[in-house]
Amino acid sequence: MATKLLIIGGVAGGATAAARARRLDEHAQIILFERGEHISFANCGLPYYIGEVIKKREDLLVTTVEKFRDRYNIDVRIFSEVIAINIKNKQVKVKNIKTGETYKESYDKIILSPGAEPVKPPFKGIELDNIFNLRTIPDSDLIKAHVDTKRPESAVVVGGGFIGLEMAENLVHRGVKTTIVEMLDQVMAPLDYEMAAIVHAHLKKNGIMCELGNGVESFSKKGDRTIVVTNKGHSIECDMVILAIGVKPENRLAREAGLKIGKRGGIKVDATMRTSNPNIYAVGDAVEVKDFVTGLPTMTALAGPANKQGRIAADNALGRKSMFRGTLGSAVVKVFDLTVASTGASEKVLKRNNIPYLVSYTHSGSHASYYPGATIMSIKLVFSPSSGKILGAQIIGMEGVDKRIDVLATAIHGAMTVYDLEELELAYAPPYSSAKDPINIAGFVATNILKGDIETINWDDLGDLNRNQTILIDLRNKDELDTAGVIEGALHIPLNELRQKLPELDKEKDYIPFCAVGLRAYIGHRILVQNGIQSKSLSGGYKTYLGAKEKIMEESPHTHIWLGE
Ligand SMILES: Cc1cc2nc3c(=O)[nH]c(=O)nc-3n(C[C@H](O)[C@H](O)[C@H](O)COP(=O)(O)OP(=O)(O)OC[C@H]3O[C@@H](n4cnc5c(N)ncnc54)[C@H](O)[C@@H]3O)c2cc1C
Repeated sequence: MATKLLIIGGVAGGATAAARARRLDEHAQIILFERGEHISFANCGLPYYIGEVIKKREDLLVTTVEKFRDRYNIDVRIFSEVIAINIKNKQVKVKNIKTGETYKESYDKIILSPGAEPVKPPFKGIELDNIFNLRTIPDSDLIKAHVDTKRPESAVVVGGGFIGLEMAENLVHRGVKTTIVEMLDQVMAPLDYEMAAIVHAHLKKNGIMCELGNGVESFSKKGDRTIVVTNKGHSIECDMVILAIGVKPENRLAREAGLKIGKRGGIKVDATMRTSNPNIYAVGDAVEVKDFVTGLPTMTALAGPANKQGRIAADNALGRKSMFRGTLGSAVVKVFDLTVASTGASEKVLKRNNIPYLVSYTHSGSHASYYPGATIMSIKLVFSPSSGKILGAQIIGMEGVDKRIDVLATAIHGAMTVYDLEELELAYAPPYSSAKDPINIAGFVATNILKGDIETINWDDLGDLNRNQTILIDLRNKDELDTAGVIEGALHIPLNELRQKLPELDKEKDYIPFCAVGLRAYIGHRILVQNGIQSKSLSGGYKTYLGAKEKIMEESPHTHIWLGE
């Protein structure tokens, strides 16, 4: 008997599962239910369609219902919402959204891929017009029509996650002055603060105001305009609001069918993507999966995992064994001409879960410095202090960031260590990289830390130091201090003069050498310790310090002048 497979949700996970299922089993009866009008559309492209970077609406349609029917012989039913699953009778109830009619359909196996819906907190005034969410093509039509016809002067984007950032950038492209209101003290929650701080500065440079650590209290109207009142009591007048606060799994169908749901609302699945019912699989934004690094339950709203899980669920539903080993949450986002990317665990996640870690910061050229156009990329590597296993990475820069984060995601997936990064032989020619790629450099620095060749101190430890005992040494050249600024109170000894000045240093004190990005601090550290002087170098140098400065000032207001006191 041919397997009757029902797939609920026809976009990232669902459409992939359907196509895979057909390739595996030509005889299966496959029905794909989609509540909306479109299947397999490019939700990731929606902000760029609104920004008119993607010019044609039809380019968002990765495939059409007709193509899917013709190529895969799949019974695609759009405007069809599955409203109940009867596990006992192995039937689902389907509602035709257009006519309101309902009917039942039997099944052997189900793959659920219902996705996640935008969070809409019960803010006062949330039902007012000109407040938009973005999930579907019709949502993007509404936003685009508003921008095209109403010509808004200003907008507020609530939420500084990747959809919020992409929307903010695209609104700016359309000439709309934009403010991001974000409850956390940083945008891009997967990043650690000091890395996000680089993004904050870039948003500001591109004319986007950020209200950080400040949530929305209410919305109201003033004529045609919308007033956004924040928790801190600020009133921001604007012509439109985009809500991009986050998403929550669409779990109603699964919950009502009695499937197990995790604490944060994700449908529980095992490594084969099977739910608590042996005939029902679930994938994508709606499920709770294992975090590849921490092993803890997690949820990721990303297209990559949804697609892979769709494939795995189809394999298993049709009798082939396939496993999902966990998610790294690898993500990349464009913020104007900056690329921001992360993979694996952040420092804050490891800290929260009491998992031991060390970090290194490196700031390397995207390609050989003598070839025109090289820019700096900042890499934060998080690794195990015992084994050197790579636990996570965050990279920000203008060029080549996507390639490096993918190398590191691959390395984490392959359980590689920072010692392996030293050895990786990566392709090099001057326009693309350096003979020592930024990934190698990150590996060298992390390995130096593990081998004890360098002891480091992180920016967020500066505030805890005994100010009478510890002295910062700025190893940069005078002209760099003049152009980039200083950490007040730091002793200035350019690296090339350090050996001569050694007799002036106090062996009873602790020294913190730093430079612009860390290389000269490493050399300085080696000179100091081999001359019997206590030293820990400032990880990531002045560049990382500068990014995190606001936070340092907030938490430890005297840090920047502590040597002067
Ligand atoms: C604006 C935007 C930008 C994004 N950008 C990126 C990006 O750059 N990179 C990235 O990795 N991810 C991005 N994502 C996230 C990515 O799109 C999702 O992670 C991915 O689509 C999840 O796939 P899914 O199959 O779980 O859910 P979806 O793709 O959301 O599909 C779920 C579908 O199920 C349908 N459905 C739900 N319930 C039922 C039901 N009962 N009956 C019938 N149909 C139902 C829904 O109508 C929906 O169409 C973005 C998302 C958005 C909204």
